[in-house]
Amino acid sequence: MGRPNTFPPKITYVQWNQLVEDYISQSDTSPQTISSDLVPDSNTIRNLGSSSNSFNEVHAKDFYGAAHYSDVYFTDLVCPICEKKFKPNELIAFLVLSCSDKEIRTVPVHVKCAMRRGAK
Ligand SMILES: [Zn+2]
Repeated sequence: MGRPNTFPPKITYVQWNQLVEDYISQSDTSPQTISSDLVPDSNTIRNLGSSSNSFNEVHAKDFYGAAHYSDVYFTDLVCPICEKKFKPNELIAFLVLSCSDKEIRTVPVHVKCAMRRGAK
């Protein structure tokens, strides 16, 4: 099976897995693109990668689910209260920005800034 140039509108997990295996086996380093949703054929059974063959980075706008065995990195580099950059060994807390029935949105802040500010 050759490397696919196009993908069908609704690709199954099994088809996707075969395409990925074919792609990896060809040692081609150019990225593949898809123009449709990637949906597994059943709920909460399929995996993406494995403990011995994992992806290096996953880029996404939003991530829903539980993160296991994970370090946490933030793209917020500045404390929104004091407006100073975070430095190694500083303690951080989370400031809740918004609440809904489904989630809370937070940003990291210095613990000292949170304590100084108090609950509002
Ligand atoms: Zn601060």
